Amino acid sequence: MTIRVTLQKEGNRSRREYRTHARAIGALEKWFSSNKGIALLYQPGEQPIVYRSRHELPIVKRSTQTNFYRTKAWRELRLSILLESGCSCKICGITAERGAVLHVDHIKPRSLYPELALDKSNLQVLCEDCNIAKSNNDL
Ligand SMILES: [Zn+2]
Repeated sequence: MTIRVTLQKEGNRSRREYRTHARAIGALEKWFSSNKGIALLYQPGEQPIVYRSRHELPIVKRSTQTNFYRTKAWRELRLSILLESGCSCKICGITAERGAVLHVDHIKPRSLYPELALDKSNLQVLCEDCNIAKSNNDL
């Protein structure tokens, strides 16, 4: 999904694109805090929305999902899980040495069991293919 935004200020126009609605709104909040102008927001399949001040912007919940994978706690845990696994996929056994892209997977998904996000017993190393197959099964 691409959210397109057009910013208009004193006859100047600039266009930007965002991957999510929340990011677009966040960027508009910032823009309105130091600019006076008009912002047009285009979502695929919907009428453009015009905003004239930050007070008109919808309130969006900040996503914590992307931040989790950047935390020190996660990165350290992830590395130790990878090393303990011998850098190999738990299901098919392929190794990073043989070119596999390895993921550290939450056996019980984080969305449903956030309290197990940093629980070692809930983590396993999977190659990309096995991980995709697993997420399809989860659905
Ligand atoms: Zn595998």
